[in-house]
Amino acid sequence: VVRAEMFGQLTSGLEAAWTKLKGEEVLTKENIVEPMRDIRRALLEADVSLPVVRRFVQAVSDQAVGVGLIRGVKPDQQLVKIVHDELVKLMGGEVFELVFSKSAPTVILLAGLQGVGKTTVCAKLANYLKKQGKSCMLIAGDVYRPAAIDQLVILGEQVGVPVYTEGTEVKPSEIAKQDKGMMDELKDVKKVLNPTEVLLVVDAMTGQEAAALVTTFNVEIGITGAILTKLDGDSRGGAALSVKEVSGKPIKLVGRGERMEDLEPFYPDRMAGRILGMGDVLSFVEKAQEVMRQEDAEELQKKIMSAKFDFNDFLKQTRAVARMGSMTRVIGMIPGMGKVTPAQVREAEKNLKLMESMIEAMTPEEREKPELLAESPQRRKRVAQDCGKTEQQVSQLVAQLFQMRVRMKNLMGIMEGGSIPTLSN
Ligand code: GDP
Repeated sequence: VVRAEMFGQLTSGLEAAWTKLKGEEVLTKENIVEPMRDIRRALLEADVSLPVVRRFVQAVSDQAVGVGLIRGVKPDQQLVKIVHDELVKLMGGEVFELVFSKSAPTVILLAGLQGVGKTTVCAKLANYLKKQGKSCMLIAGDVYRPAAIDQLVILGEQVGVPVYTEGTEVKPSEIAKQDKGMMDELKDVKKVLNPTEVLLVVDAMTGQEAAALVTTFNVEIGITGAILTKLDGDSRGGAALSVKEVSGKPIKLVGRGERMEDLEPFYPDRMAGRILGMGDVLSFVEKAQEVMRQEDAEELQKKIMSAKFDFNDFLKQTRAVARMGSMTRVIGMIPGMGKVTPAQVREAEKNLKLMESMIEAMTPEEREKPELLAESPQRRKRVAQDCGKTEQQVSQLVAQLFQMRVRMKNLMGIMEGGSIPTLSN
C-alpha cells in the first residue's frame, strides 16, 4: 500500500525556504527574510493558526541569526535543523503516554463530534492496549446514534474485546430527557466515571478548527489530551501543528487509516522529520539494524553517545550501508538528502571505495584514535602514500569523521531521549 506523503504540500512549501539559502555562507538577518516568508506562507497554507505561525516564525528567526554555524553544516541545513527542533517543540516535544490508574481499572473517556472517528478509535485503542497485554472492555455510550453501538459491537468482535452495551433500546423520550446539550452531559458522564484519561477525538482534516475544539472541550470539561484521526488523508498539517500550542493539551495518539492497526502514539520528532521530508530516520535505523548484528549496533550506539565513533565503526557502517544494496533508497532516508540522482548514487559508491582504501591504510591505533591523524600531517601523508591517494583526500576523510560524530549526535537527539527505541524490539 502506497500512502500519500503526509503533509506533502507543507513539505514542498518549506523546501522553498531552504532552496533560497543555497550558496550562502552564513545566516544573516537579511538573507533569512525571504526564507522566513516562505516558512510563514507554508504554515498558513497548512492551516496552522496565525498566532502560532507568528510565534513560530519569530522563534526560528531569533535562533537562525543568533546561533553560530556548526562546522561543516551549511546555512540551509542549519535552518532545516532549527525548523525541525521548533516543530518538535511546537508539537509538544516528547511523546505523551497514556496514563494508567494505579488501582485498576483505568477508565478512558472518549469524546468528540459526529464522524470524527470515535467509534473506530475505541476499537483501535482496545486493540492497541490488548496487544500490550492489557485486558480491555468497551462501553458504548453513544446513544444518540444507535448505529454507532452496532458498529462498536462489530468492531469489538473483530478485535476480540467485549463490548458492554445497554443496547439500542434507549427510548427517544429518555434521550430527550437528557436534552441538556452535549457539554453538560459530558460533564455528568465524567463525574460518574471519574476517568483517568479524557481524550477528545478530532479530525485532522479540520485543521486549526481541531485545535480550537480541543481548547473548548478542555475549558468546558477538562480533558487530558487529544486523539487526531485521519492523518492518512490529505490533511494539511494544521491540526497536528496547532493542537498543543493552542490548547495546551497534547495529542496522545494518531489514527492513520481505517484498519484496526492504524493507531499509534504521536511522536513529535518523527512527525517533524516527515514534514521536513528528511526521510524517516527511524526506518533508516531499522534498515541498518537488519544488516548490523545486534551487538554491533549497541556498541555503535554507545560509541555515538560518547562521541567515540572511530574509523573502525566508520568502515563497519559504510560496509553495512553498502550491503543494504539499494543505496538510493537508503540515501533517501538520510536526513537532508531527499532527492538523489543515479549519478549521485554512483558518486556515493565511488566515495565508499575511496574511504575503504584509505581506512585500510591506517594503523589500528589511528583507526581507533582519529585525533592522531587530525593532529599529524606526517601520518596523513603516510596513509595517503600507502593507498595511493593525496594527503588532501585523507584530510577530507578525517574531517568527515568528525562531522559525522556531530551529525550522529544530532541524529540521536532527534530520536527519543537520545536512544534508539526500536533496537530492543
Ligand atoms: P464517530 O461518529 O466519531 O464514531 O466516527 P466513526 O468512528 O464512525 O468514523 C467515521 C468515519 O471515519 C468512518 O468511515 C471511519 O472508517 C473513518 N475513520 C475513522 N478514523 C479514520 C482514520 O484514521 N483514517 C481514515 N482514513 N478514516 C478514518
